[in-house]
Amino acid sequence: MAIRIILRDDHPVLRQKTAEVKNINSGVFRLLDDMRETMREADGVGLAANQVGVSKRILIAAEGEETIYELINPCCELSEGDEVGTEGCLSVPGKYGEVPRSTKIIVTALNREGQKIRLTAEGLLARILQHEMDHLDGILFTDKALRLLDPEELKSED
Ligand code: ZN
Repeated sequence: MAIRIILRDDHPVLRQKTAEVKNINSGVFRLLDDMRETMREADGVGLAANQVGVSKRILIAAEGEETIYELINPCCELSEGDEVGTEGCLSVPGKYGEVPRSTKIIVTALNREGQKIRLTAEGLLARILQHEMDHLDGILFTDKALRLLDPEELKSED
């Protein structure tokens, strides 16, 4: 495994729509392994492949300390409810904003074995998945934020 460089700000790759994965091969396994290690090292809770420069529809998302979901070609089948919460992004260091997201979503995707999986997520995991799926479409949370938090507000949240 290797730690990959996380692209930042408005790097052009972050703004492109990513391509569907046609073959789940050793390159995809290596990418997923590297993404896990890169996310852990950066202390993140989610990572999209294009954040490490690979323009493919692959993301990972953490739930708690133990579980990391690996989703290939994820597709949101259902979304319910609305809530606003604070988000940041490993590609937009130092910035946080209030972003509206669905409360509950159902996502289908392939796992690394190529099997179709269906994931029902609520709350934080639903937020992470929506944030990462936006990355795959070239969208950053700053595009959707109702407002960005100023540094004073961030201090008070520590
Ligand atoms: Zn992000």
